[in-house]
Amino acid sequence: MADLYQVENLRLSFPDLTRKPLLGAAPRTEILKDLSFTIPRGEILGIVGGSGSGKSTLGRVLVRLLEPSAGTVHFDGRDITHLAEAELRPLRRRFQMIFQDPMSSLNPRHRIGRLIAAPLRLHGADDPEKGALEALDQVGLPRSFASRYPHELSGGQRQRVGIARAIALRPDFILADEIVSGLDVSSQAQVLALLERLVAELGLTLAFISHDLSVIRRLCTRILVLHRGEIVENAVTAELYANPRAAYTRELLDVIPLPDPDQPWI
Ligand code: ADP
Ligand code: MG
Repeated sequence: MADLYQVENLRLSFPDLTRKPLLGAAPRTEILKDLSFTIPRGEILGIVGGSGSGKSTLGRVLVRLLEPSAGTVHFDGRDITHLAEAELRPLRRRFQMIFQDPMSSLNPRHRIGRLIAAPLRLHGADDPEKGALEALDQVGLPRSFASRYPHELSGGQRQRVGIARAIALRPDFILADEIVSGLDVSSQAQVLALLERLVAELGLTLAFISHDLSVIRRLCTRILVLHRGEIVENAVTAELYANPRAAYTRELLDVIPLPDPDQPWI
């Protein structure tokens, strides 16, 4: 099967507590509106859109931190739309998520080696410590970093640790949500080049969420443009730039300076 993900008629709504009446349930606001798309294996799918367009919500549905209100999500041919946590647990190793600052959610008193080994231990890996060291190798950090603490690392190094944690589990899919937004331009370029290499070397499928179309353009093979919870564009990268179909995409392209696609990462 070529597609790792198949998403059909996905809808998601949250109760709108600002409009909650004194009695009865709050009315619901629809955040994701009838989304259908696939993520082919090996693809780097960019998910772009303005703030509040539903990018993170969509990402959380893909890794089933959120349950859809309607529609279906298939992962590797399996319907995961409404799986209970116990059924999801063996699958969780296969879809990993990296956040903007992965270390901010981790225990600052634990050393890097332990932080990377933790999910390996949780999923019953044979030798979590060895797995953590190998993951450090793969993201280009010295093994000596295993004994350091998060605050001793730069933002770019911490982001590499976040990536190491995710790939240590040998997942099929990684969701990266605004992971370079807090970094300076040269650290951004290094992290993106690393991701590109890992996708190729490890045969990963990646969904990369960003509000920055210039970053998406360099990295992604396909781009999905979200606008107010709807897909307004879903095209391979070159096609989207050559022929942006949605008015919203044209607006996005207009406001963002284009990087030179022939230049390597800065
Ligand atoms: P993006 O990542 O594109 O900036 P989000 O997916 O975070 O957008 O949010 C989309 C919309 O959903 C926003 O209007 C946000 O306020 C709303 N939202 C997100 N999470 C929740 C939640 N848990 N409860 C209610 N509303 C939410
Ligand atoms: Mg977001």
